[in-house]
Amino acid sequence: MDHTSTSSFEAVLGIPEFVGYVFVFMIGACIGSFLNVVIYRVPNEVSLLPGSACPNCKAHIRFYHNIPVFGWLMLGGKCSSCRQPITWRYPAVELLTAVVFLLTVSQLGLTPFLPVALVFVSAMLALIFIDCDHMILPNVITYPLFIFVLAVRIIFPIVFTNSYFSDITSPATVHLFGYPPWLMSLIAALFGAIVGGGSLWLVGAIWKLLRGVDAMGFGDVKMMFAVGALLGWRLTILTIFLGAFTGAVIGSVVVMRQKEKDFQTQIPFGIFLGIGSIVSLLFGDRMIGWYLDRFM
Ligand SMILES: [Zn+2]
Repeated sequence: MDHTSTSSFEAVLGIPEFVGYVFVFMIGACIGSFLNVVIYRVPNEVSLLPGSACPNCKAHIRFYHNIPVFGWLMLGGKCSSCRQPITWRYPAVELLTAVVFLLTVSQLGLTPFLPVALVFVSAMLALIFIDCDHMILPNVITYPLFIFVLAVRIIFPIVFTNSYFSDITSPATVHLFGYPPWLMSLIAALFGAIVGGGSLWLVGAIWKLLRGVDAMGFGDVKMMFAVGALLGWRLTILTIFLGAFTGAVIGSVVVMRQKEKDFQTQIPFGIFLGIGSIVSLLFGDRMIGWYLDRFM
């Protein structure tokens, strides 16, 4: 997944890079605004359709106050009718999504794969914050994401090229199988899903055997099916490594700050797997290449 000058804004749309990135930032902030709705409503099983209302006084929020980030600033972080504070997390999620969108475009370029990557990072951001709030990774996000990813891995080699998937672009794999590209891509996707979901399921099973407690729910397993299918086995192992590393660092900080040490504290591992999967998608191939050059 390398970004070349042929997929820049200048080359594809004939507009200056800067203008393109401003546009991407605005789209990212709007998607972030939608993700706020998803994060808030999906776990509570509320419909996504009706417009936003103040959770305190139920006053309808005017469209110009719904403008990402600026709406919140205009309101001074308070509801316009009841003056109840609106959490800073709303503009923060909008800003974060905009920044992740900028990174995604700068790393992958304007290619047919870009919309897929943007859907993927959006789903991961929603899962990260829902896991943070409720310690769940809802099926209504993980299942459709998995189906979407499988469809992409079948359709892309037929309509475009399989060069977007680093798990099947190595020439050795191509000659090894001799199957049509879409079938190879699907097999690689399923293998990645098993590596991702299977290894997490195994960790959970071993943990339960040793400690007698459920360390993680099946939400993580289902989430990693989708991650593994899109990223392939190499980037999936990197995702788990990055997730375990950041999870361990942040987990020990949390335990250290507790007055009564509680090592049974459940850690919403989906947060760290989500972060790891975004990093792997954007920088993973380069990280693995760097590591292999250095140490192999
Ligand atoms: Zn209000």
